[in-house]
Amino acid sequence: MHTARVNLHGLTREQLHVQFARWGFPSVHAARLWSHLYLDLADSLSSATLPDLPVRVRDRLAAEATLESPRTALATDSSDGFTRKYLLRLSDDERIETVLMRFTGRVTACISSQAGCAMGCVFCATGQMGFLRDLTPAEIVAQALHVARTLRRASEAADPAEARPESPPPATTASSSRLRNVVLMGMGEPLHNYDAVMHAIDILRDPAGLALGAERITLSTVGVVPGILRLARERRPLHLAVSLHSADSAERAALVPVAKKWPLDELMAACRTYSETTGRRIFYEWTLIEGKNDSPEHARAVGRLLRGLPAQVNLIPLNPTTQYDGVPTRPEAAKRFQQILAHEFSLPSTVRQRRGLDIAAGCGQLAVAAT
Ligand code: SAH
Ligand code: SF4
Repeated sequence: MHTARVNLHGLTREQLHVQFARWGFPSVHAARLWSHLYLDLADSLSSATLPDLPVRVRDRLAAEATLESPRTALATDSSDGFTRKYLLRLSDDERIETVLMRFTGRVTACISSQAGCAMGCVFCATGQMGFLRDLTPAEIVAQALHVARTLRRASEAADPAEARPESPPPATTASSSRLRNVVLMGMGEPLHNYDAVMHAIDILRDPAGLALGAERITLSTVGVVPGILRLARERRPLHLAVSLHSADSAERAALVPVAKKWPLDELMAACRTYSETTGRRIFYEWTLIEGKNDSPEHARAVGRLLRGLPAQVNLIPLNPTTQYDGVPTRPEAAKRFQQILAHEFSLPSTVRQRRGLDIAAGCGQLAVAAT
């Protein structure tokens, strides 16, 4: 009978050891393979990439395992060189986006959790394409590895296209040649694919592998209340970002249709529980749309909503998408919004720089543009 090959990137280190034991191979070989996968960033199971594994182990891997990774369909750099965006093709030809960002001296991989998204936020290119499918843990891990390989190649070759210097310090310094930060803010709703995402995070955090710290992984959710409560219960080591966009139930539901399923008051109760249980601050994301949610009154409403909660607001000027006629907030309005949060509510906030806009670096936009 034909059995599906096991994709090694979907196994935790423990599972890899169990698999090797099942095959009757000593665990030292599993340990070697693990370090080839996550320290050497091997992208094939050839004798060249696995030189220290015996032939019988390599033959078994060739017959029953795979390292199948998404392939680059398109890679685009923003004109300022701070953002590189990959459109990756999965084995069934679905396409997802992964973005490498170099802001404020940090290198961050922005990765996808689903192909498409079922949540239907009106301004979002991924929402506009509907839900296609969940990604597997291997497909989520492979995106981080894709970025990690790019960084390593860039530092080895000092390729100016891949290591465009940030001013200052240069992006080719050792600190930026390793992947340290991952945000689940690409395509899809990560809490709608909870098990696969958490499994992938366990692999990314493994101290004998990519070793991403808990402080270095941020998951952004549209507000899937049961998922937020589960994260709190399981005390998952990550940062949580919640996409708010409005402090008014009706206004929010017009932008984020799932707000009808998980209303604002239930969402805020879940956020409070999360912060109380974990002691963590939540980032609240707010896509700024001119004339919709960027007035001083809107700023005061979010200030009141978040009063007493450990919070930071991340303001994201809208990236225009084809199926939504909203326009981005003007910089003065974003600044005024920020000042109200700071002065009237002592609420910290950031405005996301719109770098990468020229390569349609908004969520899901490259996949749409390439269709
Ligand atoms: N599904 C999750 C994570 C992916 S979207 C979520 O919704 O949180 C990541 C962030 O990008 C969200 O805050 C989302 O609202 C925002 N976003 C999506 N499309 C955008 C656009 N066209 N312009 C600006 N922000 C956008
Ligand atoms: Fe899905 Fe997030 Fe886009 Fe909403 S903003 S449609 S939840 S990816």
